[in-house]
Amino acid sequence: MSRTVYVNGQYLPEEEAKVSIFDRGFLMADAVYEVTSVLGGKLIDFAGHAARLARSLGELDMAAPCPDAELLAIHRELVTRNEIVDGLIYLQVTRGNPGDRDFAFPDASVKPTLVMFTQSKPGLADSPQAKVGMKVISIDDLRWARRDIKTVQLLYPSMGKMMAKKAGADDAWMVEDGFVTEGTSNNAYLVKGGRIVTRQLGTEILHGITRAAVVRFAREAQMEIEERPFTIDEAKAADEAFITSASAFVMPVVSVDGVALGSGTPGPVATRLREIYLDEMRKAAI
Ligand code: PMP
Repeated sequence: MSRTVYVNGQYLPEEEAKVSIFDRGFLMADAVYEVTSVLGGKLIDFAGHAARLARSLGELDMAAPCPDAELLAIHRELVTRNEIVDGLIYLQVTRGNPGDRDFAFPDASVKPTLVMFTQSKPGLADSPQAKVGMKVISIDDLRWARRDIKTVQLLYPSMGKMMAKKAGADDAWMVEDGFVTEGTSNNAYLVKGGRIVTRQLGTEILHGITRAAVVRFAREAQMEIEERPFTIDEAKAADEAFITSASAFVMPVVSVDGVALGSGTPGPVATRLREIYLDEMRKAAI
């Protein structure tokens, strides 16, 4: 079935939605994005995604396409028009179409491009993967240095996913200067002796919206969290590990570079945090 998508003020069948070949998102990856999940027809943590979008735009001197209230209205309209119960809403803002290719940013008369579309994922929160856990491999982190800005430069993360697939794993954790930065599309955590360890915020990682909520819920549940870098050897010696992202929520990791963690099955901390996260976020969904 054809989706209804949103492009610059219009709701269109996906076959009719078009963006110029001169759009800077296409030519220069001069664009930022957000992915918000939908559970039971409601948006999970829209405010968090809107705030991070504003930050990404600000860091790149890019104009906001419209006020947050309008973004929220478009999200909701797409959920309704596409009858999304569980799924994702993808949003992308580019620096627009200056009518030609040039490295310099265009002047303010060039309007940003705003594109949004839905992905229906029935049963998104009941993923079979959560029951068996994920296998990760380690790879060098060869991305640019401003990973705190959520740009559409996703070539290296895509290559990382392919390296993982080739190795019979589900994802790759990226390593820089001996320490894990994050997964290709998620934040990374280990658990050792009851303590949760995850890298501190900085320009080296994306400031996950799910990470922020999970860290808060873990502290509220009296779990100990240490925000510091960790190595792959530490991860291999951990009792358990997990990742977080807006689409996977909290997902257990059961092996790192072929080394099984603990019993090789999803650990109790990851399992508990997944339950808490889903319960709390469903309650707060709008
Ligand atoms: N790190 C990277 C590199 C990501 O691409 C993502 C997912 N967009 C995350 C972390 C997780 O962020 P969030 O919880 O906001 O989805």
